[in-house]
Amino acid sequence: MTSRNAALFERAQQTIPGGVNSPVRAFRSVGGTPRFIDRAEGARVWDADGKAYIDYVGSWGPAITGHAHPAIVEAVREAALKGLSFGAPTEGEVEMAELLCEMLPSLEMVRLVSSGTEATMSAIRLARGFTGRDAIIKFEGCYHGHADSLLVKAGSGLLTFGNPSSGGVPEDFAKHTIVLDFNDLDQVEAVFKARGDQIAAIIVEPIAGNMNLIKPRAGFLEGLRRLCTQYGTVLIFDEVMTGFRVGPRGVQGLYGITPDLTTLGKVIGGGMPVGAFGGRRDIMEKIAPLGTVYQAGTLSGSPVAVAAGKVSLQLTREVGFYDRLAARTAQLVDGLKVAADDAGVGFSADAVGGMFGVYFSAAVPASFADVMASDREAFNRFFHAMLDAGHYFAPSAFEAGFVSAAHGEADIEATIAAARKVFAALG
Ligand code: PMP
Repeated sequence: MTSRNAALFERAQQTIPGGVNSPVRAFRSVGGTPRFIDRAEGARVWDADGKAYIDYVGSWGPAITGHAHPAIVEAVREAALKGLSFGAPTEGEVEMAELLCEMLPSLEMVRLVSSGTEATMSAIRLARGFTGRDAIIKFEGCYHGHADSLLVKAGSGLLTFGNPSSGGVPEDFAKHTIVLDFNDLDQVEAVFKARGDQIAAIIVEPIAGNMNLIKPRAGFLEGLRRLCTQYGTVLIFDEVMTGFRVGPRGVQGLYGITPDLTTLGKVIGGGMPVGAFGGRRDIMEKIAPLGTVYQAGTLSGSPVAVAAGKVSLQLTREVGFYDRLAARTAQLVDGLKVAADDAGVGFSADAVGGMFGVYFSAAVPASFADVMASDREAFNRFFHAMLDAGHYFAPSAFEAGFVSAAHGEADIEATIAAARKVFAALG
């Protein structure tokens, strides 16, 4: 085992619960020692022992232009020299808001926050304040950050409200969240028929990225839009992961569906802590100080984070950016699939824009249940063998992967060649 990583993990566990500041980093799902990252550049990260990896996590999505892109680093440096935080409005925030509204036409107004969790939590509160209703619908396997009403799993029956999926979440909160199966429109219709007039919002990852990668079935998102319009329910697309990642206008642009509210994060900060929520003007005007729904943040719209975010977004607007990104990602998943097939390993893969899923199952999953039925043991062996060979995939069978614009054809070929050997050993 690499020595400094192990020593740091041991040391970290003395003062940080589990040794990490966000649970997936602890490698609990795959076992073994997490790599402590010392630095990153382009498509690569280096761990505390100086070992290099071609990185397919990309900070879980933000590093779409590659790590430490010189233009982003320079923007951060320039902004920092002018002061780190003022607690007062800045021109940079206005430019960032204008850019987001221009790039994502469903945003008539937008508010900046500091994380995806804050964005979804605030969007839910706003939807409740706007509709005067308490209940919300979410889907099993979709993750929307760790606000209380979103850490909820399915109840005992379709029409029952959910149970907390985390300690510390009161049943009284969870009971307002109905948890349904992603891609099952019949269930959503049944719930709306029974209590549509009580439902403030549907929140959905329109392409799910937190149960590996799962695309919506034809008609699913359209059906959600139709039901929300019919019942006066706020449709929230949580595009924290997919926004500016699957394409220039997120999933809403790919499928041509306009949500009422959208939540954003990751890419829009270029690696700095930024989130945002926005959408219909009549809804957004319900937020304080205009309206009665309270929402705030000392570091919201941080001048340094906004400087990084603006450059990150501008870089994605370069001609051909998404075509190149999608081509690289397709090259990866196609190559992995061929290599697995040649070795006779039950494996499938899928991709959209710069986001991908690899599954140890014969067919691409379409539901949470399908993903849960994939071969986790095989994934874990694949993960560790690839890590040893210098290819850093997400440390869980239930996470999506990310390619950046800094990944070259040769990087992808190197990963496929390494996977070929690993599949042969697994087959
Ligand atoms: N929504 C989605 C779809 C996410 O993927 C995440 C984080 N992975 C969040 C919300 C929460 O974002 P954050 O971790 O920045 O709070």
